[in-house]
Amino acid sequence: MAKPAFFDYPAFKKTKIPAVRVAHWKPVTVYTRWRWVVQAVIVLAFVIVPYMRWLKLDFTNDQYWLLGHEMSMVIALQAVVVLWFGTYFVNFFENYLVGRLLCGWICPWGLLNRLGMIINHLLRRHPRRALALVFSNLVFAIAATLVVMNWALDLSTLVNPQHAYFGWTWCILAGLTVLGFAILHKMGFTFCETICPFGMYLTVVTQKNSLRVVFDAGRACVDCGLCTQVCPMDLSPREMDFRDPMNGGFGQCILCGDCIDVCRKRMAPEGLPAPLRWNTEKNILPLLPPETRTNTTGLQP
Ligand code: SF4
Ligand code: SF4
Repeated sequence: MAKPAFFDYPAFKKTKIPAVRVAHWKPVTVYTRWRWVVQAVIVLAFVIVPYMRWLKLDFTNDQYWLLGHEMSMVIALQAVVVLWFGTYFVNFFENYLVGRLLCGWICPWGLLNRLGMIINHLLRRHPRRALALVFSNLVFAIAATLVVMNWALDLSTLVNPQHAYFGWTWCILAGLTVLGFAILHKMGFTFCETICPFGMYLTVVTQKNSLRVVFDAGRACVDCGLCTQVCPMDLSPREMDFRDPMNGGFGQCILCGDCIDVCRKRMAPEGLPAPLRWNTEKNILPLLPPETRTNTTGLQP
């Protein structure tokens, strides 16, 4: 049928929608509120421990401290090894109960990725979004490098051209900053999914009975897709139970809780409870895999 003469399409301005994912940053539940608090405390600990010399190695001046006292290099290195293996040991048991919680709650690198996502999202309509993201990731990379270097070097070497390690310290700072920036800017959470050895280990060993996000089939879902959009790991929280744990399944979930937060936020105006829940909650009706659902209803695929 011909188009009526009195009707015309409005002339929309062409817009390029940036490839951003919704970055959720305002906590809705107590869970995500505590996640932010723990992440802030961990970052503070990374700064304070070497600053207070509770554990600090200074290879540039051949000085080493443990619990505020100067020690030999061997003792300080032993403390580092104990701390390192202790972290693995705690992580082994923690993982059995709470999966990849370490990635979502503890890892400062994950926090930087998250901050990058938030900036990317907040500036999604800003014409200088790309530039602002480059700048912020550069600042994050420099800050992270300085924090890490402060555990092993004296940062004042950077402003002391007379020091024997002046050049080396700058080379380390530049090298690590470039590496950190490339990972932050080009990979984001893909690094956590595909390269981080800790993350890969946790993906493999995470058990189905540990803490995880489940979809309650007894509750309504408005199919808004927000849970998928908000997930930093590019997972589909509603379908995680039917996926290979290491390939889109619960093994890759970092338990950030953002999907549950947005689901609650979305369902609140409907006056309905959120279908996404923690598996520790009660009265959850698990969603059956598609083939089982077909068989029980007698319908043919
Ligand atoms: S599935 Fe949910 S809890 Fe897991 S990483 Fe994605 S948003 Fe976070
Ligand atoms: S956010 Fe909640 S309501 Fe929206 S699609 Fe996901 S599970 Fe369904």
